[in-house]
Order: sequence, then C-alpha cells, then structure tokens
Amino acid sequence: MKILFFLITLWLVSVPLYADKSDSYGKDLYSIKLQLKWRHQFQFAGYYAALEKGFYEQAGLDVSIIEGGPDIFPVAEVYNKEAQYGVCGSELLLHRLRGYPLVLIANIFQHSPLVLMVVDKSGIYSPIDLRGKKILLHEDGSDAEISAMLMSEGVDPQSYGYYDGSVDTDMLLEGKIDALAVYITNEPYLLKSMGMDIRVINPLKYGIDFYGDCLFTTEEEINNYPLRVRAFRQASIKGWEYALNNIDEIALLIKEKYRSDADIDMLRYEGSAIRDSLIMNKEVELGHTNPGRWEEIGKTYRRLGMTASSSRMEGFFAWEYENNESPEKLPSKLLPYMGIGILSLLAGGTLFFHIKLKVYTKNKIHSLQNFFSLPSYMLLVIDYNGKIKNYNQSWALLMKRYFGSEHPENIRQVLTGEDVGKIEKFCHMNDPLQSLISLEVFFKNAESSVWINLDFHQAFDEKLIYGIARDITEEKARNERMGESVEIAMENARKKTDFIASMSHEIRTPMNAMVSITQMLIESGLSIEQKDIAEILMVSQHNLLQIINEIIDFSKLEAGKDEVILDSFSIKEQAKSIYQLFEVMARQKKLDFKLNLIRPLPNFIISDSQKIRQICINLISNAFKYTEKGEIIFSVGLTEAGILKISVQDTGIGISKDDIGRIFNFYSRIERKGTVRQSGTGLGLVISQKYARAMGGAVTVESQVSKGSVFTLTVPVHVIN
Ligand code: ADP
Repeated sequence: MKILFFLITLWLVSVPLYADKSDSYGKDLYSIKLQLKWRHQFQFAGYYAALEKGFYEQAGLDVSIIEGGPDIFPVAEVYNKEAQYGVCGSELLLHRLRGYPLVLIANIFQHSPLVLMVVDKSGIYSPIDLRGKKILLHEDGSDAEISAMLMSEGVDPQSYGYYDGSVDTDMLLEGKIDALAVYITNEPYLLKSMGMDIRVINPLKYGIDFYGDCLFTTEEEINNYPLRVRAFRQASIKGWEYALNNIDEIALLIKEKYRSDADIDMLRYEGSAIRDSLIMNKEVELGHTNPGRWEEIGKTYRRLGMTASSSRMEGFFAWEYENNESPEKLPSKLLPYMGIGILSLLAGGTLFFHIKLKVYTKNKIHSLQNFFSLPSYMLLVIDYNGKIKNYNQSWALLMKRYFGSEHPENIRQVLTGEDVGKIEKFCHMNDPLQSLISLEVFFKNAESSVWINLDFHQAFDEKLIYGIARDITEEKARNERMGESVEIAMENARKKTDFIASMSHEIRTPMNAMVSITQMLIESGLSIEQKDIAEILMVSQHNLLQIINEIIDFSKLEAGKDEVILDSFSIKEQAKSIYQLFEVMARQKKLDFKLNLIRPLPNFIISDSQKIRQICINLISNAFKYTEKGEIIFSVGLTEAGILKISVQDTGIGISKDDIGRIFNFYSRIERKGTVRQSGTGLGLVISQKYARAMGGAVTVESQVSKGSVFTLTVPVHVIN
C-alpha cells in the first residue's frame, strides 16, 4: 500500500513537469537512426518497445528504426553514416579487428542464435557427419561461430562453400544443400510447425559460445556524443526489459505496426525463445559485456584466419571512451527528467532496492555479473597455472593502460619475480587455512604509475583463484606522508628531550657548587640561628638537585642512553657518602636517620656505581619526603649468593595496597587526603626500577598506611675481596 502511495505521489510530482515542457517537444530531440540486422521480427522487440513506450523520447532521442534485409549490412550502413547505431552479431568484432572504428555499446543476446539445420533423414547428427557435405555459409563472417565449430570438430573448411546473398530453406528441403545456418528462434520452429522433420546442430554444444545481437556505434559518435550514446543504450535496455515482460503486447505491435511476415504465434514463440535461451535476463544483467569472452571470440577469428594474428581489440568497448572530454550538452528536454530521476532516486532508493532484492530472492538467482561490473574493484579469475580465465572491465582498463593492447594472458606476466614465486606456491597449496594471499604490485608507464593491492582467494572446489584488486596509490602516499610526519614528530620530541637534558645538566653543575658551598658555610662556625637558616637553604637546594637529577635520568632513558656501565667501587664508602648527603635534611626534619652496614661487607664490588647511587638517593629522598616523625634506616648488605641488598625503611605515611600497584608507573603520584602535598615529578621510582632491571635486579616495596614503608633494592654484583 505504501509502495502504491509512493508511486502515485511520484507520478503526480512528475506529470506537471513533463506537461510544462510538452510545447517544446520535438525541436529539442536528437534525431538518430538505428539500422536493424534483418526484417522486422521479435529479434528487435526491445527497440520497438523503447520507441512505442516513449523511452527514447524521455531520453531526448527521436529514433528511426530502419529495417534490414538480405542486401543490407548494418556494419556498412553505420560505417558509411547512413545510420548512427546498428544491430549485428559477433562479427562486429571481426570488423573492428579488420580496422573499422566500430564500438560495442551493449550485448543484448548473451548467446548466438545461429545453428546449423539439417533434415532428419539426412543421417547428420554432429559436425563430424558434415565432412564432405554441402554447407553454404556467409562470406562476411556473420556465420563464424558455425565455421569455428566445424573447424574445431575437424571438418575441413575446403569441404564447404561460401555464398553471397540469400539461401532459403527450400534449398535444404530439396536436398540442394545438406545443412543451412539459421536462427534457432525462427526457421526450426517454422518448419516444425509445418510438419517437417528437421534437426539442429548447435555450436554451443561444441564449446563455441559467441555473442548474439549487439548494439553498436562508431568511434566518431561516441567521441562526440558520449551522453547521447549512454542515453540511447539505457533507453534501449529499458525497451528490452519492457518487451521481455510483455511479449504478447510487443508481438502484436510488431505484427500490426511493423507488418512482420511472421504470424503472431511465431512472434510469440520467438519472444519466449529469445528471452529464455538467448538474452537470459534473469541470470545476466541486460546489456552485460564480458571482455574475456570477447577475447576468446577474437582468438577464434584469428584461428580461422579471418583476421591478421596481430589485430587488436583496442577501442572496441564503449567504456574505453568513458573519460573522454566532450563539449556535448544534454538536450534541455532531458533536464526535467533528470530532476525527476534524482527525486526518484532520493525518495525511492530504498524502495527500489527492496523490490529488486525481492525479485532476485524470488528467482533464487543472483546476478554475479552485477558484482563483476563494480567499477572500483578490479576482479579476475585465474586457474592453477596462472592463466587469466575471466576479468571485469576495470581490470581490462588497468591492463590496457599499463600493458597496452597486449592483454596479459597469464598472471605471471603481471607480477615480478618474487611475487610470481609466491603465487605459484599459493596455487599449489591445498591448505584451507591458507586460502588468501595479498600482494602489492606496482605498474608504471610513460605517463603514470599505480600501486595495486591484489588479494587472491582460493576456490578449492573449482580449482580456481579469485583475485580482487584495488588501487592503493593514494593510500600508500598517505601512509608515507604519515610515516614522514611521525618521523618529524619523533625527531622534534628527541630534540626537546635532548634540550631538556642538556639544560638540566647545565643547571646541575652550579647547583652542585651551591650545595658544597652551603655545606662549607654550615661548617664555618655560624651562630645557631645562622646555621639553621643555612641548613634550610641546603635542604631546598637538595630537593631541587633531586628534581634535576630525575629529569636528566629520564631523558637518558628516553634516548635509550641508560646502558649499564660497570666499575669497581667500595660499597661501604659509597653508602657513607650518600648518608652524609642527607644528614642536614635529617636534622632539619628532626628525623632519626641511621646508616646500617650489615657485615661482612666486601671491600670492592663490580657493578654500575652511578646507577646504584642514584637509586639510593631516590629512595632516601622519598623516605624524607613522606616521613614527618620517627626514623629512617638506610641498610646495606650482601647475601651469600652475592646479591647486594639495600633497603630504606621509614616510619612515614605508608602506601595503601590499592596504590602500591601504581607507584612504579611514569608520572604516577598518589594524592592523600589530610597529608601535606609534597613536590615531585612522579619519575623517581620508575627510573629506579628501570635502572635496577637494567642491572638484572629489582626494587620492591612493603608498606602499611600510617606505619611506614620499606623499599628494597636487590642487585647481583661481582665481589672482589
Ligand atoms: P615523586 O616525585 O612523586 O616522589 P616517585 O616515583 O618517587 O615520585 O614516587 C611515586 C609515588 O610513590 C609518590 O608520589 C608517593 O605517593 C609514593 N611513595 C614513594 N616513596 C614513598 C614512601 N617512602 N612513603 C610513602 N609513599 C611513597
């Protein structure tokens, strides 16, 4: 109901637009001529329907349909500009190969209707039985499928003759000839209905599959009027759709308006035979063209010696002209239709899809051809020897651009050495788990180059490989640009890190001097009050130095300059010097700071003294930062297994179980309610842990909130006694 409402609305919207323009009808239409191949009959039903139902007019075209006959050759008529468009069979390609600038617009008949007819009592059942018999064929190549069948079945072409002009069925019935090339949709039906016993030999049965009627034009027409060609094609196909859905109506039209010789039953029979076995519009999209099949037809012509072996198909397909610029404008009359078209598309897109889907589901036929015609993907099918069996127009276009008219027959011709090896291996790999291979190939000619991604999928059942290719030139360029940007960004980041590191280093030198001088000042016999002030100054200097050290360490880590540097040193001496660093701070904070050297300690050990020192300073700094009262014990010992064990124990605020997991992360600082906020970078523990790991050790922690923490560094060292 909704659909009906929609259609009525659409019709109501469109009628006034049509009506407005009706005065200018005629003067805006293009006048063109279509030359038929034969006399008026159902074979051309689509064109009559397009004219009668106004499809041509809607496309802005005023079409005259010219009847054919025994002495009329559509190719010659169109070539000589007697008509712009014509209908003929596969011989169209033969003429193109011979150098005539003819262009295929649409394949209407997916198979050729041409068969050989013999009389029943002749005892002829197959092509072989025709050896030495009298067969007359057209000289112009329009019977080439019959010649190809005879040739492939071993019948010598010398054994039959050619004729010009017309041969009738009487010659066959009278025994003057043994076989006659006829249309399967016409003569056999006629003779059978007259009670004659006849039989047909169909080239299709012998693997010769030519196209039947095709719509064509000239290069001149398509170059000058590409839109007109497209409009004519679309309207003709619409006409065919109508004719095949309304066979009775169009049969009557042909009988009455076009005064066909055939009776109405014959026309109806012809109609259904054409629809079901030649056009097959339920399986194949009307007008569909498969360039691969045309290649095969071209090869047959060459094999039969009908055209030079060097002849090329280039320029034969209408889509090859698609990018040509043309000053052509659409007739103004088309504009309202375009408006309606856009409106219908917008409003009816979903509806159309819905109906279309239903039709397909109902018929349980999926038209692969539609998929094969997708312009953005290049599709091809290869066999296990790499032979390209089938491909779509997009692939053909790509090949044409980069390989010229020599269309590669084998995928090896398209790939370079390494990829050839990969695809060969892939072809012989019978492993369902590895049914996909992806290659990136590069094509280049004088004007352009392209990167193509080729995905090959195994179709094990059919022993075939399906290829899907797409242009990734843009994508690759984008990735490259992105890679460059990342490189630049990283370079900038590196520069910043280096800058911070060198700045921090520059600050550290005077800071160290300030710390030493403050130390000297404290020891120079100051009054208690002055000493107190100097000590506060020193603690601040110490904190600042700690931050600077962390920044330098972090920069080193970032730059990957944190390698372990081994040296031998006295751990006792080092522990004492670290301890001294914090004595002033302990006094200032009124904390009991103890150094606990757990004996026996070796005289010397071999390890990275700088890293160990830095870790100790970090851990002790933290203990002072997070402890307000009580004690801090700095213990140094060596286990029997040669592991240096240094711990820093405090009676500070502690760390909860939830927070403990986070303290070794970059910039991780724990906020605690009710405690004084301490300055810091959130880097000290990460750096300590990384240094410890680099030396093959670790920093661990045990802690209880409000009771205190113990941070322990364990590092394997080499002992020298
Ligand atoms: P920060 O510069 O913040 O001290 P660290 O990496 O050294 O960075 O420490 C990370 C966090 O671990 C600190 O913010 C603190 O919350 C917690 N922490 C470190 N040491 C102690 C400690 N001895 N007592 C309590 N909390 C500590």
